[in-house]
Amino acid sequence: NTPKSIAILGSTGSIGTQTLEVIKDNQQLFRAFMLTAHSNAYLLIQQAIEFVPEYAIICDESKYQEVKSALAHLPVKVMAGHQAIKDMVTHPEIDVVLTAMVGFAGLEPTINAIKAGKDIALANKETLVVAGELITSLAKENGVNILPVDSEHSAIFQCLVGEQNNSIEKIILTASGGPFRGRDRDYLATVTREHALKHPNWVMGAKITIDSASLMNKGLEVIEAKWLFDLKAEQIEVIVHPQSIIHSLVQFEDGSIKAQMGLPDMKLPIQYALTYPNRIKTSFKRFNFIDYPHLTFEKPDMHTFRNLGLAFRALENGGNMPCIINAANEVAVDAFLKNETGFTDMSDIIESCMQQIIFLESPSLSDYLNTDKETRIFAQNLIQNMPLKA
Ligand code: NDP
Ligand code: MG
Repeated sequence: NTPKSIAILGSTGSIGTQTLEVIKDNQQLFRAFMLTAHSNAYLLIQQAIEFVPEYAIICDESKYQEVKSALAHLPVKVMAGHQAIKDMVTHPEIDVVLTAMVGFAGLEPTINAIKAGKDIALANKETLVVAGELITSLAKENGVNILPVDSEHSAIFQCLVGEQNNSIEKIILTASGGPFRGRDRDYLATVTREHALKHPNWVMGAKITIDSASLMNKGLEVIEAKWLFDLKAEQIEVIVHPQSIIHSLVQFEDGSIKAQMGLPDMKLPIQYALTYPNRIKTSFKRFNFIDYPHLTFEKPDMHTFRNLGLAFRALENGGNMPCIINAANEVAVDAFLKNETGFTDMSDIIESCMQQIIFLESPSLSDYLNTDKETRIFAQNLIQNMPLKA
């Protein structure tokens, strides 16, 4: 059996580097065929030297020469620019495209990969949030699997093996609650980027870490779950579970509940997406019940963490509304990371965009691209005109 050829979009990030660790531990099964980075030429070069992929692509075209000359002695084709990623994901030798880049940038490469019949191991949840209907119908048309990498969705996917999708009563997404669990709005208004970047249970990229602190990550995951498992908003519940041991649950129509559990480690869902429907042996640290005598659960505080409620509202509105909240959130998080806006301002920015950007009931791909662009401009303007906080 020849190893599966994997294209990793965003190989230099948190999910990307963990995917490479999974590949390294299972070289008889997987091969890194294509690696892509946004601008981290240094790490892309190191990875290409170690894994010798067919292609190494850097989005930032000013880094092309640096990557090209560092890899000149290797049989690695070096390319640069977003278009190169969009084009090369369709390469006939690729079996699976693992989408581990962050944000809206994942949308077009994912669409091209699906059209070329590639299975998608999906970490980039923003793609399904923005255009879930388009992506899932394209996947159906092309007979393509969308295999979840996000730990909650992997948990649900694992619970559903051997079950009928129409026997789901509801799913329960667990949330750690993030670093500000139990705090109120006044406290949130004072938090800095350094506070927000410290997640209690997971080490992740900056954007998703902020999303986890604001509960927007859970909101995006609610929308992601709707599309992955074909659910109605009423069938999706969120529960805070600070230990992050139960990764999510499914309740069936007979009342039975299945949960998937384990220590938090993204390598498991990454690996499962690549080996599905099989499992393979790992040496990952095992969970021991005796070390966790108290697994606890609480209701999410949607009054303090407004983003979660806004995401549910966007899901109910449908159309381009999830695309609007995604774009507004990307701009807001970026501004927060640059100390240009406060933590609670992010929800105000998102809500204003939801009210002001033109609603479209059945958007096309070009409508999504326009909505994304318009929302970004609008959100940017809001931030520039916001009163400065003392
Ligand atoms: P990181 O920020 O750690 O990595 C992002 C990767 O994408 C890097 O390789 C980066 O390149 C690249 N990238 C960034 N911006 C662009 C762009 N505009 N175009 C192309 N490539 C780009 O993110 P994470 O690995 O944490 O997250 C990746 C995705 O996976 C997100 O959608 C996140 O929501 C999802 N996810 C992550 C989890 C985690 O545990 N980290 C868990 C569940 C889901 P460079 O390094 O050069 O900047
Ligand atoms: Mg998750």
